Amino acid sequence: MKKRKAEYWKVESGNTLKCNLCPHHCVISPGEEGMCWARKNEDGTLYAANYGKTTSLAVDPIEKKPLFHFRPGSSILSVAPNGCNMRCPFCQNYTISARKVPTRYIEPEELVELAKHYNSPSIAFTYSEPIIWFEYIMDVARYAEARGIDLIMVSNGLISPEPLNDLVRVVSAMNIDLKSMNEEYYRKVLKGDLSTTLRTIEQASKKIHVEVTNLLIPGDNDEDIEELSKWLSSVDKTIPLHISRYFPYLGYERPQTPMSMLQESFEIAKHYLYYVFIGNASITGAENTYCPECGNLLIERTGFSMRIVGIEKESCKSCGRKVDIVL
Ligand code: SF4
Repeated sequence: MKKRKAEYWKVESGNTLKCNLCPHHCVISPGEEGMCWARKNEDGTLYAANYGKTTSLAVDPIEKKPLFHFRPGSSILSVAPNGCNMRCPFCQNYTISARKVPTRYIEPEELVELAKHYNSPSIAFTYSEPIIWFEYIMDVARYAEARGIDLIMVSNGLISPEPLNDLVRVVSAMNIDLKSMNEEYYRKVLKGDLSTTLRTIEQASKKIHVEVTNLLIPGDNDEDIEELSKWLSSVDKTIPLHISRYFPYLGYERPQTPMSMLQESFEIAKHYLYYVFIGNASITGAENTYCPECGNLLIERTGFSMRIVGIEKESCKSCGRKVDIVL
């Protein structure tokens, strides 16, 4: 197992260190870990304690990430570290994000070969929070590029600008969770930072393909959808927004998202953005991609299966507009 020094930290005083990978800026004493468990101070040096340690390994349809406009219809090898740098009380993956669990070590080169073995053109760092796997992703990238494998992150966007710059040089696409537009909710309930996530979406979307997911929780963030969509359209109207239905989990006391609320939010968001989808609910047509110019159906989706029906030579078959999709 490789022992890898962490990047983005400095000495605070004596052997006490400060991690600068994300805006928590954990101050870590010798023998201790940061709040994400991923970075450990060993005698005055910060190590990537979770380097290559994998909790999960699966081949998924890329639509499951969700990524609808990046290599639609392809499969993706999905892996996850143990831990997270946020504490969402409704996390659907809390068994690997908020509990310490056994892991299996996978060398960067081995991971890329596994993707080849399973005929997956991409690898997704997903399920828990891949930002805390920063060094591992950067090392996997060296082999992935040589073997023609794309790297994808499904992330909360809570990362400092400098390491994000490094990541967008090697990662091809991201799905970033935007959980609310309320700074206080982000800070107090989720232990995150709204302004950082907004900055990550802006910074990343200038360099790579980005899609955004909003888990719609009644009573928490259902009044944010207009502000959220308006803000996202000011960054780029072509960024796909996935509005995802919430189901009660972990005893979090909110009811499941009513279908009427999903439908209403869908209509509001479509007013600002070209591509809006509803996930975790069966609403006819709400997962399809239509041409924003002429309304032609470009990609039809049901569950995780899809059919490209209205695209020819990377353009809309009907009006010829170039599609905003990495095919
Ligand atoms: S990456 Fe982890 S250790 Fe570093 S500042 Fe963020 S939560 Fe703390």
